[in-house]
Amino acid sequence: MNKIKNYINGQFLNPSSNVWIDNYCPANGKVYGQIPNASKADVENAYIAAKSAFPSWSETTLEERSRILIKISELLEANLQRFAEAESKDNGKPVSLAKTIDIPRAASNFRFFGNAITQFASESHESIGQDAINYTLHQPIGVVGCISPWNLPLYLFTWKIAPAIAAGNCVVAKPSEITPMTAYLLGEICTEAGLPRGVLNIVHGLGSTTGQAIIEHPDIKAISFTGGTETGAHIARVAAPMFKKLSLELGGKNPNIIFADCNYNDMLETTVRSSFANQGQICLCGSRIFVEATIYEKFKTDFVKKVKQLKVGHPSKEDTNIGALVSKPHLEKVMQYIDIAKEEDGTILYGGNKVTIAGYEDGYYIEPTIIEVTTDECRVNQEEIFGPIVTIMPFNTEDHVLQMANKVKYGLSATLWTNNLKRTMRMSNQLHAGIIWVNTWMLRDLRTPFGGVKASGVGREGGFEAFRFFTEAKNVCIKY
Ligand code: NAD
Repeated sequence: MNKIKNYINGQFLNPSSNVWIDNYCPANGKVYGQIPNASKADVENAYIAAKSAFPSWSETTLEERSRILIKISELLEANLQRFAEAESKDNGKPVSLAKTIDIPRAASNFRFFGNAITQFASESHESIGQDAINYTLHQPIGVVGCISPWNLPLYLFTWKIAPAIAAGNCVVAKPSEITPMTAYLLGEICTEAGLPRGVLNIVHGLGSTTGQAIIEHPDIKAISFTGGTETGAHIARVAAPMFKKLSLELGGKNPNIIFADCNYNDMLETTVRSSFANQGQICLCGSRIFVEATIYEKFKTDFVKKVKQLKVGHPSKEDTNIGALVSKPHLEKVMQYIDIAKEEDGTILYGGNKVTIAGYEDGYYIEPTIIEVTTDECRVNQEEIFGPIVTIMPFNTEDHVLQMANKVKYGLSATLWTNNLKRTMRMSNQLHAGIIWVNTWMLRDLRTPFGGVKASGVGREGGFEAFRFFTEAKNVCIKY
C-alpha cells in the first residue's frame, strides 16, 4: 500500500502513533493509499522544527527568500504533469483542469509572493511640529499554522504557505485529509529548492486530530484557515481566547446576477463555467443564478442546451468537462439536495442523477444539475451545496434582485452581468460580498484583497494583505 508521510524538519517521517487513514480515488471509489493521522506529538515535533528554523529564516535576506520561493515555483512548473495527475487522482477533477489551473496557480503563488516580498516596505510618519518620526516594522510572527480544504488542494495550500514563509515565518501546515497527495509531493520540491529544514513542516491527518492539535498549540501564534463555515466557527472558539491572529476563508453561496443588457454570449459561456468548473466545488462558483425576466426564457433554453453538452467522465480523459466529486459522503450530501429541491417544488430542468462510467462504476459521478426555483428562500437557494448544482429564477427589478442576492448568511463573491455603468456602481457598492466580478468570473490578480464578509469569513488574503496578516506591525517613535 502506497503510504505518504509527514514532512518534518526536511525529513519524511511516519506518524509516531502509527495510525493511518485510507485515501480514496474518487474516479473509481477505491482506496489507493494511506496517509498518517498525525498526533499531538507529531504536531509538537513539527512545531519544534519550525521554532528552531525561525531565528535563521527570519534573518535570511529578502533576496535569498525570494530566490528560493521562485525556485519552488520553477520546480512545480517542471513537474506540471506529475502534479496534475496526482491532484486529479486524489480529488477527482479533470487532469486538464489541474494542468491549466491548479498547478500553474500553485506555481504562481510562490512566484508572486517571492517577488512581492522584495517590494513590501515599512511605512514612516513624520510627526510635524512634534519633532518626531515614526517608522513601522512588519516583523514575522514566528511559527504559524496553515490549514486548507480539498477543493483546490495545492492551489489553496500554497496560497497560505507562500506568503507566510516569504514574510519570514516558519510554518506547520495541514492539507485536507481527503486530498493530501500534492502537499506531500511539495515537500520533495521544497527540499530540492533548498528551503532550509524546518521552515515548512507538513503534517497529515484528520481535522479533529491533527488540525485540532495545531489550533490548540499555545505557541502557534496565527492560524490561516480555509474551509467550511462551521469549522471556521470552531477554530475561532478555540483560538480567540488564546489571542491568536486568525484569517478565516469560509463558505459561500454566491449570486450570479444577469441583466438583459449584458453581452449575452460572453455571459452564457462564463456562466456555464462559473456554475460547474471543478464540479461546482469552488467557493467562488455562482450557484444562485438570477436572470432579468425579459431574457429569462431565452436564457433558460440556451443554458440547458449548453450544460447538456458538458461531458461527465473519467478525470484522465481529455474530453471530460466534469470529473468525479471528491468523496462518497460529499456525493451523498449533494444528492440529498436534489431530493430537498423536489420536496420544495423546485423543477429539475436538467440533471439530478448519478452517472455510472463503464469500468469505474464505484466512482462519484453526478450530472451537472439546473434547478428552477420560485423563491429565493428555499434551502437549495440558501445553503451551500458545493457541488454541480445551480438554481435559476427570474427577477424584475434591480432592488428586488439586490435584496435576494444579499439575503443569505454568506458573502464571499458576486457576479454581475450588465453594460450599464451606473447600475454596476450602485450594485457593486451595495452587494454583501468581498469580491465582485462584473462581466467576468474568476479573473484573479494576486495583488487584490481576497476574502468574504458575514459567514464567509474574517480577514483578507492576497498581495500585501497576506503579508500584513503574517507579520506584526511594530511602530517605533523617535523624538529628535
Ligand atoms: P472543512 O472545514 O471540513 O475542512 C477544511 C480543513 O480544516 C481540512 O484540512 C480539515 O481537516 C480541517 N479541520 C477540520 N476540523 C478541524 C479542527 N477541529 N481543527 C482544525 N482543523 C480542522 O472544509 P472542506 O470540506 O475541506 O472544504 C469545503 C469548504 O471550504 C466549503 O465550505 C467551501 O466553501 C470552503 N472554501 C472556502 C474558500 C474561501 O476562499 N473562502 C475556498 C475554498 C473552499
